[in-house]
Amino acid sequence: MTGLREPLASGMLRPGGLWRNWGRSQSSSPRFLAHASSVDDVVETVRFAADRGLTVRPIGAGHSFTGLAVTDGVLLDVSAVDGVLAVEGMLVTLGAGTHLYQLPALLAPYGLALQNMGDIDTQTMAGATSTGTHGTGATFGGLATRIRAATLVTATGDVLRVSATENADLLPAVKLGLGALGVLVDVTVECVPAFLLHSIERPEPTATVLAEWDERIATIDHFEFYVWPHSDTALTQTKTRLPGDAPRHPLGKVTAWFEDRVMTNGLFSVTSNLGHAIPGLVAPINRLAVKLTGDREFTDHSPVVFATERSVRFREMEYAIPVERIPDAVADVRRLIVDKDWRISFPIEVRAAAADDLMLSTATGRATGYIAVHRFFKDDPTEYFREVEAIFRAYNGRPHWGKMNSRTAADLRPAYPRFDEFLAVRDRLDPDRLFANDYLKRVLGE
Ligand SMILES: Cc1cc2nc3c(=O)[nH]c(=O)nc-3n(C[C@H](O)[C@H](O)[C@H](O)COP(=O)(O)OP(=O)(O)OC[C@H]3O[C@@H](n4cnc5c(N)ncnc54)[C@H](O)[C@@H]3O)c2cc1C
Repeated sequence: MTGLREPLASGMLRPGGLWRNWGRSQSSSPRFLAHASSVDDVVETVRFAADRGLTVRPIGAGHSFTGLAVTDGVLLDVSAVDGVLAVEGMLVTLGAGTHLYQLPALLAPYGLALQNMGDIDTQTMAGATSTGTHGTGATFGGLATRIRAATLVTATGDVLRVSATENADLLPAVKLGLGALGVLVDVTVECVPAFLLHSIERPEPTATVLAEWDERIATIDHFEFYVWPHSDTALTQTKTRLPGDAPRHPLGKVTAWFEDRVMTNGLFSVTSNLGHAIPGLVAPINRLAVKLTGDREFTDHSPVVFATERSVRFREMEYAIPVERIPDAVADVRRLIVDKDWRISFPIEVRAAAADDLMLSTATGRATGYIAVHRFFKDDPTEYFREVEAIFRAYNGRPHWGKMNSRTAADLRPAYPRFDEFLAVRDRLDPDRLFANDYLKRVLGE
């Protein structure tokens, strides 16, 4: 440990308090909370924990809904290990704790951007890639598919470099590793030249959108839609890529503030609370929400268009199914809600992604459609999620690793052609399960 400080003495490690995730679906009381701001800090923390028989869970922005970060050992926050470390052409090496919202400013001097993004930018690079965070677009993979190299601190406290030329066999596991293989300290992501997106948001008949699903994802760069329960209307989002020097037509600052803060989040907060208190109001509220939101057109820098603000807390379950089964699965979920006479205040979100070959990617080996269901955080999601999960499983669905699910290693193995390869990497890098917790034991095994 030459040159390393004692983490407790340095103040980097403190007694842990109560930790809660964004969706308020998980909480834990770790023995220690470590704030690392360098690779050495991470090494020290890992060795400190290993010496005392404690487990370690790395943490990003706490935006996963599952128990990935729950630990009674050491919770290791690497968000201060951030910033640009190197740029070589389109390849940008970032501190693993870099938040996605930092990227526009960090990448501006190089004229670069992420190729695709999900619908928020609050996550860290490490957290987002480790759970398979994705956006939409039938020809685009999730963030992990753009990772070209990574450095991680393993269970022994060693620093391991993984790239196309160093430990290359580990790369398809490390890019999307659930924090089960070690602590990422940097990632190298392949970016693209900065671009604009032209976005059209429209209410449309749900039946039309479902009938045209195949055609729309084949012809539109980034297509997604939200189906509102208790309404026959879907809000569609059609995003088309434009060169970075194309004319911008951004939403005015006041318009953006009014539509995103007041109408979408403000109104949604009021209606979610109202629907929670008086479930009978959910159906008329949903029909009103469809009328008041989601009808606009603008062109702006890609991160501005991809990422939205989400200030109303919710819980979410999202499944990946074969892309061509999306219309049937959406119809099944809508029928279930009607049959059960439930009042569901949050929309069903539908997206698409290209097939990839990562060991634990929800899109591994097949073109993928994603369906996400949500519930306001004050509403009990148990019954809705359980019944919807049964529908998704019938379509050979794979759960988003960061979103609520009830799956086990035994029933996930048949859904993932490379599952056992990942477990072999885990055995190799973390044989004593320094990075284990209850969620990982459930979905990966002991
Ligand atoms: C409002 C909201 C919107 C969302 N939108 C989308 C979306 O559009 N698309 C989508 O796919 N998902 C979405 N998600 C899910 C989210 O992207 C993932 O759960 C993501 O993992 C959260 O990133 P994080 O930085 O908060 O990671 P955390 O939740 O803190 O951690 C996630 C995992 O990464 C591991 N990890 C974190 N840091 C490290 C590290 N340094 N080394 C190794 N492992 C590490 C953790 O151990 C944990 O296993 C959304 C979630 C919320 C709450």
